[in-house]
Amino acid sequence: MTPFERRTRRVQSRLTDSDADLLALSPGRSLYYLTGVDADPSDRLTLLLVPTEGDPTFVAPALEAERIAAATWVTDVRSWRDETGPAPVLDPLLADLSPARVLLADRMWAAVSLTLRERLPAASFGLASEVVTPIRRRKDEEELDALRAAAAAADATMRDVRSLGPDAVGRTEADLAEYIEERLESHGGTGIAFETIVAAGPNGADPHHTSGDRVIEAGDPVVLDFGTCVDGYVSDQTRTVVFDGDPPAAVEEVHSVVRKAQTAAVERVEPGVSTGAVDRAARSVIEAAGYGERFVHRTGHGAGLDVHEAPDVVAGGEVTLEPGMVFSVEPGIYLPDRFGVRIEDLVVVTADGAERLNRTDRGWRC
Ligand code: ZN
Ligand code: ZN
Repeated sequence: MTPFERRTRRVQSRLTDSDADLLALSPGRSLYYLTGVDADPSDRLTLLLVPTEGDPTFVAPALEAERIAAATWVTDVRSWRDETGPAPVLDPLLADLSPARVLLADRMWAAVSLTLRERLPAASFGLASEVVTPIRRRKDEEELDALRAAAAAADATMRDVRSLGPDAVGRTEADLAEYIEERLESHGGTGIAFETIVAAGPNGADPHHTSGDRVIEAGDPVVLDFGTCVDGYVSDQTRTVVFDGDPPAAVEEVHSVVRKAQTAAVERVEPGVSTGAVDRAARSVIEAAGYGERFVHRTGHGAGLDVHEAPDVVAGGEVTLEPGMVFSVEPGIYLPDRFGVRIEDLVVVTADGAERLNRTDRGWRC
């Protein structure tokens, strides 16, 4: 059994335990997770229909059907042609399944969702995350291997960037971002998992700064947050470094507070603990140092096929940690018009604690 089929069988058993009897997925990360089919949503209807028992069925445009059949373990691929539209394939299939409650992909296009609702007037509808998220948020061995490889590519890149030292001074943020993206590829990554952040000096105070034409100066704290993909799985880590010279006086203190907060949160990670408790571990260190108001985001987010997925590590979060969950721990302090500091690693919940996927130096000195 392939990992894709194994995941589908687990989702089916959740579906059986829920009050829904059909899962309908359009192209997206959850469709890939269950089938291995990597497709983009388009105006031509592509759907995976997963009943509680038996095998799933793909409905696919004739143009794509062969490619889909070759990529997946799902053997029932029913294709439709442009001149007829999907109705001759979809209608009998839905009549046969006659579901009472259907769970739709959370990011399905409204047009597809309305098509299904019109054809199933007696059914009720919910979100696929109800049954898929509890499975997707616990990574299996194949997924952990990919996440480790993506993290290793990011770590190797971070070492390259740090080793620039004074050579980074005088380059623009955008130029350094381009260098980072080239290094990520050369260390085995594919593309970028999200827009590369190089935020120098005051720009670091914006957690989602877009790398631009600011020139990196001696003494600038520079927030470096980037990621790549391996086999579809992301990496995401952040370091805040000073490439050369002495930073403003407050940087050393703020950096050490963030680093302590990050360590405290990672040390809190173990099965049975809530996501809210991990957030609290980081936030309480920052609050005690007087910067509570300047930690303006959640402590972390799940990571896997999506760079932001379940579970959220947020104040009051009630998800109970289980082995195999992967998320970021990334506290930060942002001082408007001055600078920002963020330190981020991905961690995996293990049987008795946490494994950090990112292992490079967390200090600010290059
Ligand atoms: Zn990040
Ligand atoms: Zn992140």
